[in-house]
Amino acid sequence: MAIRTIREIGDPILNKKAKEVKEMTPRMKELISDMYDTMRHANGVGLAAPQVGILKRIIVIETDEESSYTLINPVILKREGEQRGYEGCLSVPGKTGIVTRPNQVVCEALNERMERCTIEAEGLLARCICHEMDHLEGHLYTEIAEELMDNEELEESRENTESGT
Ligand code: ZN
Repeated sequence: MAIRTIREIGDPILNKKAKEVKEMTPRMKELISDMYDTMRHANGVGLAAPQVGILKRIIVIETDEESSYTLINPVILKREGEQRGYEGCLSVPGKTGIVTRPNQVVCEALNERMERCTIEAEGLLARCICHEMDHLEGHLYTEIAEELMDNEELEESRENTESGT
């Protein structure tokens, strides 16, 4: 198990475009395994390679214990619907924003064995795929969030909402 350092907002590597993966190498396998360790350690649901300082088009997503996805060179073939909701990022600690994303996406990618696969995602998984794909293009959700709050402010606004009006 190896936990890598998560790059944070302000680090120029997060604004760079990641490169396609041409072949699966032992080094690449190690990177993917470390990405899972790093994501789980940080209690995240997704992580893109640039977030650990590697400009490769690799994403790992784990929305729950039974659903983990390794997406290599992912491409979104179809976007449908709309969802507006809270979003955070391991590279932007302590913040939450409101971001509108497609509610459904169809994504094509290679898996760890470099086999082509298609994923039909909706809800949280669709949101995660879009968020992580933005990382591969050098973009952070803070660029498109309509509101960006400190997590303490978020708690307060949730309490206020619950207490009435
Ligand atoms: Zn992120």
